[in-house]
Amino acid sequence: MTREQKALMLLRSCYGYDSFRGQQWDIINHTLDGGDSIVLMPTGGGKSLCYQIPGLMSDEGFAIVISPLLALMNDQIDALQQNGIPALALNSEKSETENRQTVDLLMHGKVKLLYISPEKLLTEIDRWSSTITDRICLFAVDEAHCISQWGHDFRPEYTQLGTLKQRFPSVPIMALTATADRITRDDIARQLGTPHAQLFISSFDRPNISLNVVQGSTGKQKFRQIVQFINLHQGESGIIYCLRRIDAEKMAQKLTAVGIQARPFHAGMSVKDKQQIQRDFINDDLKVVCATIAFGMGIDKSNVRYVIHSNMPRNIEGYYQEIGRAGRDGLPAQALMFYSYGDVITLQQFARQSGQVQVNMDKLRRMQEFAESSVCRRRILLNYFNERYDHDCKNCDVCDNPPARFDGTTYAQMALSAIKRTGEQAGMYTVTDILRGWRKAEVIEKGYDRLKTFGVGRNLTTGEWNAYLLQMLQLGLFEVAYDESNHLKITEYGNEVLYGRQHIELSKYERRSFNVKKAPTSQPSPAPDLTFSTEPTLPDGRQIKQMDKELFERLRDVRKALATASHIAPYMVFSDKSLQAMATQKPTTQAEFSIIYGVGELKCQKYWRPFTAAIRDYLSL
Ligand code: ADP
Ligand code: ZN
Repeated sequence: MTREQKALMLLRSCYGYDSFRGQQWDIINHTLDGGDSIVLMPTGGGKSLCYQIPGLMSDEGFAIVISPLLALMNDQIDALQQNGIPALALNSEKSETENRQTVDLLMHGKVKLLYISPEKLLTEIDRWSSTITDRICLFAVDEAHCISQWGHDFRPEYTQLGTLKQRFPSVPIMALTATADRITRDDIARQLGTPHAQLFISSFDRPNISLNVVQGSTGKQKFRQIVQFINLHQGESGIIYCLRRIDAEKMAQKLTAVGIQARPFHAGMSVKDKQQIQRDFINDDLKVVCATIAFGMGIDKSNVRYVIHSNMPRNIEGYYQEIGRAGRDGLPAQALMFYSYGDVITLQQFARQSGQVQVNMDKLRRMQEFAESSVCRRRILLNYFNERYDHDCKNCDVCDNPPARFDGTTYAQMALSAIKRTGEQAGMYTVTDILRGWRKAEVIEKGYDRLKTFGVGRNLTTGEWNAYLLQMLQLGLFEVAYDESNHLKITEYGNEVLYGRQHIELSKYERRSFNVKKAPTSQPSPAPDLTFSTEPTLPDGRQIKQMDKELFERLRDVRKALATASHIAPYMVFSDKSLQAMATQKPTTQAEFSIIYGVGELKCQKYWRPFTAAIRDYLSL
């Protein structure tokens, strides 16, 4: 049997899946060859299998999974154990006896996956005998962006992981993250001491999530729009992100007052309350959670149908991660973000109080530019993550109501040529000065006034150039090197435009009055009715395969009863996607049941009777 066949067998028997997704097998294979890797995949992309399978395939060895979040760790282990996979955790929440038992099992080669926090790993590993350390087949560093100061969630304890490679040079390291720009990515490799790590980048696109931004609504108007939106999604699960704890509480109160059952969730609440809310949300007993950024990290709920940002988030990384919690099952989902000038002021204060003012201010500016843009939102996001995406998505508010456009290729060529002639050593404002022919001290000093492109863009105003350069950045013609004084660097796509192989369109520049703070006395205009499509089709027009809704509801009840009986979350019995597969394919025998999506060997044994009985009953067989 080949290595791949063995892996596929494990995939079927332990997880109930038939094939690897995207680059999963390449990543696993590279790891089995002993190679280091950096894995960039969006939330829901399937990162966990990449390190779980190598652990499972190792005869007496085990994979160490380093993760910063205790809640997530425990959930993942529960879910793995449901599939009969020997996974354990070492952490401070466990008793001394439990932890000792775990070490004993490691000693005897009885564990395949060990989840541990970075600080615990580094104290623990010194105490292990070589019998244990010799068994380590992989270090998987989850949420690896936490190691970088350039990332949006820096955790100092992660930086110590840099010693692993020196101490265990022959054990492969796999760094995984759902958010990394080029700088963060380079930083991860450097800090982990794995300069030759192979990079595996999956597309970050989540085409099933529709992206919408509403500008300028505040106060009552905003609240009305939120209520309207939620009412369009009755019976569906959603998350509303708020900036502060108090905002989350108020939002939940106000929603409850208008008859929408909602609860707040934030770091200031007791562990018990938080766990209860998470559980209710996962179990579909609570539909709406009003949360600060603390919510959602630790849960794997695949049927969240919408995510609302009642204020603009701090940065694009966080925004993308948060909206990524919607639609993990691949079915249509909505992201709705509200943005007002007041948000910018508050967020600037947060940034100033943070340890890394400059980085956070820069990231905030990019977030604001995203919110204000007239460019397809998905293009901006994917280009921000250095992924080439050169067409409009047709599933965002800009694409739904496109602004007036014109062929901007000539302007782009002027700008790109100016950037090229500076040796890619100039920032955005300097490029505008060069195009406008502005003899500023810096321009003269560097000799830019002697460039061929100096002054070619005189016919446009500074405001126009700034706006168009921003659009070009968002379209992915060049990127900003934050680690090199914000100089502009031309991308491959940019070169194609520069040499006339591609054309681009720009949105007509209109002066915005939005950034000017409105007088507090001005009356808010009546709330426009927002229109949101709730059509059950994917953006590419594919219809969702027909499933029997009534049967699905019945199976959901069966799942709920089974979960309650064994004190686990319903999704750990089966995901919605598995229930949908059952409600579509209607298996009535054990054999038919065993090939359903997500039905591994253990779950087939445990659950085929109750589910097929319910289906037979439903079909009156
Ligand atoms: P991530 O950690 O990248 O957010 P997960 O590893 O949790 O994503 O995977 C997301 C979902 O996709 C999970 O429910 C997982 O079981 C499922 N999944 C992952 N790989 C496959 C596969 N090859 N076939 C089918 N489902 C998969
Ligand atoms: Zn779009």
